[in-house]
Amino acid sequence: MIYEDLQKFATVDQNVSFTTMTTLRIGGIARYVVYPENQYSLAGILDVAKANHLPVKVFGKGSNILCSDGVFEGIILRLDRHFNHYYFKDELLVAEAGCSIIALSHEAMKRSLSGLEFASGIPATVGGVTYMNAGAYKSSMHDVIHRVCVFIDGEIVWLNKEECKFEYRKSIFQQHPDWIILAVEMKLTKGDEQEIRELMENRRQRRYDSQPLDKPSAGSVFRNPEEIPAWKLIEGIGYRGKCIGDAKVSEKHVNFLINNGNAKAEDFLKLIEEIQKNVKEKYDVDLYLEVEKFNW
Ligand SMILES: Cc1cc2nc3c(=O)[nH]c(=O)nc-3n(C[C@H](O)[C@H](O)[C@H](O)COP(=O)(O)OP(=O)(O)OC[C@H]3O[C@@H](n4cnc5c(N)ncnc54)[C@H](O)[C@@H]3O)c2cc1C
Repeated sequence: MIYEDLQKFATVDQNVSFTTMTTLRIGGIARYVVYPENQYSLAGILDVAKANHLPVKVFGKGSNILCSDGVFEGIILRLDRHFNHYYFKDELLVAEAGCSIIALSHEAMKRSLSGLEFASGIPATVGGVTYMNAGAYKSSMHDVIHRVCVFIDGEIVWLNKEECKFEYRKSIFQQHPDWIILAVEMKLTKGDEQEIRELMENRRQRRYDSQPLDKPSAGSVFRNPEEIPAWKLIEGIGYRGKCIGDAKVSEKHVNFLINNGNAKAEDFLKLIEEIQKNVKEKYDVDLYLEVEKFNW
């Protein structure tokens, strides 16, 4: 019955493995995965969820999520199939939440617009990078976002940048898991196409040289404490290359934990907790997760 009700509003897949929805390729099963076409279809899906007391979670590219091995008896909302339109107007870029930030950074470059170079290697959606205030090379989404269009209790609301309360890998959206980011307006600056291209190429090469891009991961697992980068602490406790099952601390970048084959979520979490415990004992520093645990 729930399946039929959801289908009135959107395409629905049932019993989808999280291994296909996350870059870590770890996790159990999602009972329903839906692809709303617009805000009306989204509203209908949320009504069905409410009527059936089902939890709802938006997934972007799943590049920052560690799912448990269990079943999620709820609805995963995916916006990357239909909410993927964007337009440029002078130096403004308005992009729907499901757009790929990598693709947009290239589109901006072709229009000689600077600001998204830092994001050209982040395998994520506009919704996900806004929620996380994703960043690299001393820049973050906070630097380019002008305002954000959000679905709140069935209403469409535009929040300006200040209202989004961006901080290091933080935003107001993390305090309101029921808010759904629909689109983001970004303000870029006029630049030189060749210079932007070179900077992006330089960033690409740096990522390639320093990150284990050939293995499934969720990027940096821990937030950097203010006093010292997380990688130095992990290195300091001797965990480079450490494995639990197929969960492994990357040899190339120790703040990347990788799935070395068929890693179980349990093993991944054990490795995380061991690192946190050992770092606390040796350095008296709390390492906090940047990666989000989901359905534990
Ligand atoms: C190889 C690799 C490199 C990476 N490099 C970086 C980096 O340089 N800098 C960095 O900051 N991160 C990096 N990451 C981590 C990750 O890409 C970011 O955290 C990104 O912001 C996650 O975006 P996503 O679309 O995949 O969101 P997901 O991982 O799918 O979701 C993340 C959170 O955002 C929420 N969310 C997603 N879309 C919406 C929406 N429309 N409305 C409301 N909530 C939403 C989800 O519910 C979830 O809570 C990297 C990851 C990988 C795998």
